[in-house]
Amino acid sequence: MNTLQAPRSAGRARTSRTELITVEHVSTAFPSADGSTLQVLDDVSLTLHEGEIVALLGKSGSGKSTLLRTLAGLISPTSGEVRYRGERLTGANPGTAMVFQSFALMPWLTVQQNVELGLRAAGVGPVERRERALAAIDSIGLDGFESAYPRELSGGMRQRVGFARALVLRPDVLLMDEPFSALDVLTSENLRGEVASLWARPDVPTSCICIVTHNIEEAVVLADRVLVLGSNPGHLKAEVEVTLPRPRDRRSPTFEALVD
Ligand code: ADP
Ligand code: MG
Repeated sequence: MNTLQAPRSAGRARTSRTELITVEHVSTAFPSADGSTLQVLDDVSLTLHEGEIVALLGKSGSGKSTLLRTLAGLISPTSGEVRYRGERLTGANPGTAMVFQSFALMPWLTVQQNVELGLRAAGVGPVERRERALAAIDSIGLDGFESAYPRELSGGMRQRVGFARALVLRPDVLLMDEPFSALDVLTSENLRGEVASLWARPDVPTSCICIVTHNIEEAVVLADRVLVLGSNPGHLKAEVEVTLPRPRDRRSPTFEALVD
């Protein structure tokens, strides 16, 4: 028996306690139109570890996107701090990449050009850029669509481009802001299954996923931990460890035996 052909997730260690992103007592307020301020996050503390999938679950307006953008270092909190591998963030978080609900693709660029964009910005040379982009495109099932334009693709395929564009950056932490909510049920179920198995692949360096959702089922199916955000202002209301059996093989006895 070729054990290397056994579960694709076999190389992924289970959750370690290595801290990737730490949020400590973060509060965030935005100026509102009438000159007052709008308190959006209130004293939020959380930690994302290597090897886990964490869902941020909350109603619309509870501050989920604000919190996710804070993890990415795109928003500086009014008070409190965010650390990546122990280093306090002062700008964009170098260990993260984002996937957006609305895909956010450049319509005038091909699939491959969209995927290469972030690498270009990071100063990666053309040969490596192409190689990494093609591998990322292939890994998410878009092989053969390198030269297509976003308008020629279905919603599910556009979001695949969104995933390829994030994964090509090889982030430690993949941040996803309601990545499936613009897709129909079947497409989103398919894609989320693929994302879970991609994450489990030993050749994919991303070891932590943080997914924002308002869909309880999605949170429970995908995540190891669900953080529930309450509204007005956004605050951590509950934390739920998910222990239900899931269609993911990384917890199966076979897998546990293989990683030993
Ligand atoms: P969610 O993603 O949970 O729907 P958001 O984080 O997008 O919530 O928004 C939370 C609240 O903060 C909303 O009331 C929204 O209008 C407000 N908000 C978000 N971003 C800004 C901003 N840049 N400036 C002012 N208000 C904002
Ligand atoms: Mg949002």
